[in-house]
Amino acid sequence: MTYVITEACIGVKDRACVDVCPVDCIYEGEDQLYIQPDECIDCGACEPECPVNAIFPEEDVPTNQQAFIAKNKDIFNSDTPPGKPKK
Ligand code: SF4
Repeated sequence: MTYVITEACIGVKDRACVDVCPVDCIYEGEDQLYIQPDECIDCGACEPECPVNAIFPEEDVPTNQQAFIAKNKDIFNSDTPPGKPKK
């Protein structure tokens, strides 16, 4: 299991989640922030911090946001993987 950042983050990238993640597994992509699924320890700390409610546990991702489960995973294997968040 992992937490997943969905569509609401696109263009927002508030980064409040970054500050509370104990294992620094939230990275910044061009369009949105992403959670590295192999590094996330499922602590849930990031979820309530998001001002636009973009973060869900994998099993609670809304039906119309399911594509973001794969997007959060695949982006780390792409030619342009997300990097450390800019403050
Ligand atoms: Fe980080 Fe915990 Fe959120 Fe996973 S659930 S991204 S470990 S704060």
